[in-house]
Amino acid sequence: MKLILLGAPGAGKGTQAEMIRERLKIPAISTGNIIREAIKNGTEAGKKAKIYVESGGLVPDGTVIDMLKERLLMPDCKDGYILDGFPRNVAQAQALDEMGIVIEKVIDIEVADEKIQKRLLGRRVCAACGSSYHLDYKPPGVPDICDKCGGKLVARKDDEPATVLERLKVYHEQTEPLKDYYNAVGKLFVVQGQDEVEDTARLVLAALEA
Ligand code: ADP
Repeated sequence: MKLILLGAPGAGKGTQAEMIRERLKIPAISTGNIIREAIKNGTEAGKKAKIYVESGGLVPDGTVIDMLKERLLMPDCKDGYILDGFPRNVAQAQALDEMGIVIEKVIDIEVADEKIQKRLLGRRVCAACGSSYHLDYKPPGVPDICDKCGGKLVARKDDEPATVLERLKVYHEQTEPLKDYYNAVGKLFVVQGQDEVEDTARLVLAALEA
């Protein structure tokens, strides 16, 4: 099963991707995580990507598509995967089509902009393994420490207020048109993002079974 999770930054795609990963035993692939990893490791692609990520813009399609292609070649992808954060514009969706990848369902998690802003400002991520937390909604057991690996929790640089506004703008202008793209082929399932992670998870699972 090949799935796409759509939704604004901070809509909870990563959290739901993780839930689906455990249920369906297919990898969750976040281009955001792949890019951050490349930046951390100082690779050529990472160096190119850094300025775009930190300003809240999109990394150029060619760079992201190459990174994704490399990831999809790994053996764990053979029975399917969940794409989180890709595609982010129509050109990237067309690239998937051109690669001959048939997506079964696209689940769009809808959350109002005001709520998104609140969520991103309280978000913390593990500097070691990338797991995501929130100061109010999903606090770790021990403050500032990752429950999963014991790593240190930090705020992402692109979660600063001005950058968050830019990311939302980019989302509405470039990513939202993908709803029409996938609706036109009958693959779009819209879910209203809830305050509780479990409530959203129930809706996502219902969409998967629909
Ligand atoms: P969020 O969904 O919270 O914005 P991500 O971790 O998905 O966070 O992405 C962080 C940043 O990485 C984006 O703002 C963008 O700069 C870059 N990025 C991730 N995925 C893509 C993509 N498919 N195309 C272009 N840039 C991307």
